[in-house]
Amino acid sequence: MNRSCARPGCDSVATCTLSYAYAERIAWLDDLHPIDSPANHDLCGLHGDRTNPPKGWEIRDRRSRVDAIGLRYAG
Ligand SMILES: [Zn+2]
Repeated sequence: MNRSCARPGCDSVATCTLSYAYAERIAWLDDLHPIDSPANHDLCGLHGDRTNPPKGWEIRDRRSRVDAIGLRYAG
């Protein structure tokens, strides 16, 4: 079940999922969700690392592999 990164122009395999809690103004970065939800954004490791939350939001990186260098090039 390979899913690709949601960023325009990026064909990398998604390794993490970005989801939002609008009421709390929190964005979560998790390991790739098993279910492909249209409400979430699947991202590759690189774009996951580069994700900036909207102004006034907090981002919480809950990925199990935070050694992002290895993650980026792991394929
Ligand atoms: Zn990407």
